[in-house]
Amino acid sequence: MKQQITIKLKDKSKAEIAAGYPLITKDSLEGAERLQEEGTIINLTDSKGRFVAKAYYGNQNKGAGWVLTRDETENIDQAFIERKLIEALRRRRDLFNNPETTAFRLFNGEGDGFGGVIIDYYDGYFLVSWYSEGVYSFKEDFVAALKNVAEFKGIYEKKRFDTKGQYIEDDDFVAGERGEFPLIVKENGVNYAVYMNDGAMTGIFLDQREVRQAIKEKYAEGKTVLNTFSYTGAFSIAAALGGADKTTSVDLAKRSSAKTIEQFSVNGIDYENQDILVMDVFNYFKYAKRKELKFDIVILDPPSFARSKKYTFSTSKDYTNLMKEAIAITEDKGIIVASTNSASFGMKKFKGFIDRAFKDLGRKYSIVEEHSLPPDFRVDPKFKEGNYLKVLFVKLG
Ligand code: SAH
Repeated sequence: MKQQITIKLKDKSKAEIAAGYPLITKDSLEGAERLQEEGTIINLTDSKGRFVAKAYYGNQNKGAGWVLTRDETENIDQAFIERKLIEALRRRRDLFNNPETTAFRLFNGEGDGFGGVIIDYYDGYFLVSWYSEGVYSFKEDFVAALKNVAEFKGIYEKKRFDTKGQYIEDDDFVAGERGEFPLIVKENGVNYAVYMNDGAMTGIFLDQREVRQAIKEKYAEGKTVLNTFSYTGAFSIAAALGGADKTTSVDLAKRSSAKTIEQFSVNGIDYENQDILVMDVFNYFKYAKRKELKFDIVILDPPSFARSKKYTFSTSKDYTNLMKEAIAITEDKGIIVASTNSASFGMKKFKGFIDRAFKDLGRKYSIVEEHSLPPDFRVDPKFKEGNYLKVLFVKLG
């Protein structure tokens, strides 16, 4: 049995939590200093000691834990986790039955009723990401629950919290049989090479599935495509398979080049007909302007924050400038795919950054397509900030 503790919510937070908000912060609690061991179940009460909700204690960048139930009689145990998993599996039945897509999100934290943990599905393998020491204390229950309610070949994990040096970098294997990497998964018929045992990232960001599909099916044919912050080149692969004349992928990380070559190769595309550049995007913009290069499609998908030798980029401060750089090298009537995964602002503000860029340059534009997270990245309707992804297809002129 897990440790339990009863803590009073401050009045203001009590109303929010009672209304369905799932995240607790230390500020929302009376006497938060009584919390010791992460993973402890907290019985949250109002100022009179009346039950409001049950949460667990776990520190992550977002807060100090997540509400799990508002039913006082419900225990937080393996059976609880099984119920959440069964529901999550049921919601993704269509994806499981779709042979063209074998990689997607299976369990999306608070959106599926258990904040702090996500599970991605990669062709028979589960990759569990733990976002706090607290949620990690439920590991045994999660693994046992998965064994009971789901079919899988193997389970891997990523500990995305500070483990004080105890994290064994080279082995994220948990249960079942080991995978052979790269594992080749499919997304709408496109192959992607994935690694589950090689650092924090696997080679593909599953949340962009619909964006890749749109680029491939509706925009790429016969076009020149510049993919900035390209990582393993996933957008370039989608564009090339959609009939792009040529793709150019630019990323600062040395590994990105070999990784991009691999992604092209597993799709039978000759990478030598594509440009793959290891360089700072901001230097590339200068180079392209000097050479008077212009592209039909420019993809912008920067990290929320990045520091290179010469430049520091923070989405919320610098997106307008990034957009201006892109506009300068996009053909008239061309498309800029502007994306951000920053949770610190919403769609309205993002549109503001883009509008500012066009206004500053005295240029016209229209937004022709808008995306946020796909349905498998299920968002808790009471926690809208969980829908961090914002992607706009912007047409020039
Ligand atoms: N668009 C990618 C994901 C981008 S991840 C996809 O769809 O898969 C962010 C990438 O930006 C990382 O690969 C990182 O190496 C790269 N990056 C960060 N700062 C950069 C810079 N100044 N110039 C080029 N690449 C940069």
